[in-house]
This record gives sequence, structure tokens and C-alpha cells, in this order.
Amino acid sequence: MLLEGLRADVARYARKMSTSGLVRATQGNLSARDAKTGRVCITPSGADYDTLTAEDIVVVDEKGEVVEGRWQPSLETPLHTLILRCRRDIHCVMHTHSLYATAFGVVYQSVPVVLSESAACLGAEVLVAPYAPSGTLEFAELVAEYLGEGSAVIWGNHGAMVVGTTLALTFSTAHALEDSAMVYAIARQLGEPKLLPPEAVAQLRAYWLAHYGQRALAGDREAAGR
Ligand SMILES: [Zn+2]
Repeated sequence: MLLEGLRADVARYARKMSTSGLVRATQGNLSARDAKTGRVCITPSGADYDTLTAEDIVVVDEKGEVVEGRWQPSLETPLHTLILRCRRDIHCVMHTHSLYATAFGVVYQSVPVVLSESAACLGAEVLVAPYAPSGTLEFAELVAEYLGEGSAVIWGNHGAMVVGTTLALTFSTAHALEDSAMVYAIARQLGEPKLLPPEAVAQLRAYWLAHYGQRALAGDREAAGR
């Protein structure tokens, strides 16, 4: 089986997405690029997270053509591969339906930087891309534009997407976004939230990138979540 280790890792983190509440039922999808071959391991369309194994993960090339797999790849494969082609600095793309981040996408409000942990993972406020039918090239280009060089983007009237160098860091970033959205929503009910000053955000982000964000690119197998 091609890329057996990475496929097992994608299956494991996809199950963690489900058990930690980032997605429910068969929602969401996850991909990781093998740095050596450039091939992408992605969850299948309609993934059953409870039973997902390495054999269920589909291997595609960077254009999204299936290389090996017993299922159809996620319907969002064109978006994953577009993001991975645009962003050589990351290797993983995770789409979630986490509730609070999704709620910000329904009122079309960006999620500001309110927590130090989130400042490190996210690095900036998270914007909301306009609604477009998912699975289309128009939608993929919109998401890529709103993501830019960032770590996360919210999809209007849909969910959220985060990117990262490793599966472990991408999973942490997805939770950082959800925590920020939830805490900010609660804080607004209690009073006037204070945002982190831009210089503090820049400092936290720089430290995080230096100590965690670039490790996978340096070939650190441990940081790759294995
Ligand atoms: Zn979705």
C-alpha cells in the first residue's frame, strides 16, 4: 500500500476530529501531503469516522487525480489540492464544522485574536469567505483567496478550514480557532472583550513558528504526528 504510514496518520487524526467534536457524522475532511512524493492522502467521500483506517484513505496527485484507493476521495479534493499547490509552506488541510466558528460564518463576522494560544497558532484574525457552493472551482478559489498566507478561514454559511505543517499542529489550530470563537462569543455576553495587542500577537506567532511551525519542513518525523 502506498504511503501506508501517512494514510494511517490521516485516518487517526480524522477520527480525532470526530471524537473531539470538530465534525459530526460524515462531515468534514482532512488531507496531508507527503513531502517527498508530493502525493496527497485524503479522507474518502462520506467518511465513516468510527471505522476509518489507513486503507480507507485515498492517495491523489497534486491535481487531485486518484493514484490509489478503494473509495472516491472527498468532494472537496479540488479545494485541498489547490490550497496545497498554492501553499508550499504547509502540508495539511482540515475542514471542520466546529459549532462556534461556523456560527461566526453565519453572521459573517471574523474571529479576532483574543487568546494567547490562538495568537500563536492562528497569527491573525480569521476572515469569513463569502458563500459559494462547495466542491466547485469558484469556491476553491474564493477560499484560497480569503485564506491567503494565513492559518485559517471560515466558510460563509458552512464551516471552517485550517492548514498547517503537520497533522498534530493542524489539529491544534482547528481547536484554537474553535476556542477563540467560543470564548469571544461568551465574553461578548459578559462585557466588552479586549483583543490582544498586535505586537503581542506578532511576538507569540514568531515564537510559535520558530519552535513548532517549521519543524516538519525540517523533516522532524516526531512533529509530523507519527
Ligand atoms: Zn463541510
